[in-house]
Amino acid sequence: MLVTLTEILKLAQDAHCAVGAFNTPTFPAIKAAIAAAEKLHVPVILAHAETHEKGTPIDMIGPVMLREAEKATVPVCVHLDHCAHLDYMKKALDIGFTGAMYDGSLLPYEENLANTTKAVELASHYRAGVEAELGAMPSREDGVHIPTGPVYTKPEEAVAFCRETGINALAPSFGTAHGIYKSKPVLDLELVRVIAEKTGLPLVMHGGSGVSPDEYRTGIKNGLRKINYHTYMSHAGVEAVRKLLETRDVTYLHELSWAAEPAMEADAEAAMRVFAGLHQ
Ligand SMILES: [Zn+2]
Repeated sequence: MLVTLTEILKLAQDAHCAVGAFNTPTFPAIKAAIAAAEKLHVPVILAHAETHEKGTPIDMIGPVMLREAEKATVPVCVHLDHCAHLDYMKKALDIGFTGAMYDGSLLPYEENLANTTKAVELASHYRAGVEAELGAMPSREDGVHIPTGPVYTKPEEAVAFCRETGINALAPSFGTAHGIYKSKPVLDLELVRVIAEKTGLPLVMHGGSGVSPDEYRTGIKNGLRKINYHTYMSHAGVEAVRKLLETRDVTYLHELSWAAEPAMEADAEAAMRVFAGLHQ
């Protein structure tokens, strides 16, 4: 069933676990995320990043995400990920998205604050919750590299930012990066605990691929309620396609999609087990 970002984060809060947010710019990703969640009976967030617009327009994929969410036997939030433009957020909300992340983390603090406040005001006219980011992470879903490295979010700044904007969830910067890690990330999970306690809000982990299960568990214990997970699931699909192409010649593109899906589902399921605190 379709639920809002606020509702799904409340479920995670009550269960002391985190809900996985999976980017779904393809049909196999949508199917894999929902199938894994239904198998484990856990809530799930389907996410569309603004940077995926070029190849996967939101007006094509959005209605499919929403329909699959409505049909699902578990709570599903359909969420806009890393939105940098408020007119794009409005487009998503008009389509029916139930959550949106406004990402002004690359902007100066005051500008991020002003735009995030506008995003919350916009979303208040819809049945949707807003996530925002404070402190920048190196590299993003589109591979944009921010050379300065992670800027760890300051707790006092986070408290003021959450209070003034009225957001429903905060993505602080505590050492994660998007994509595949080239070296082991240095996560400050104590900072997560402090920010969660001081803001009282559910916290979001971006760059969730490639973090160890123990780090996830500690992060969740300390207040992470939404974990963005994309790279490893997508890569599992690519590996399945590679194996298929090594065994035989393939003519039809859909065969590649179909080969990717079970591998993506297995990867999503393994991640969801950790996020939900289920046994492996
Ligand atoms: Zn992200």
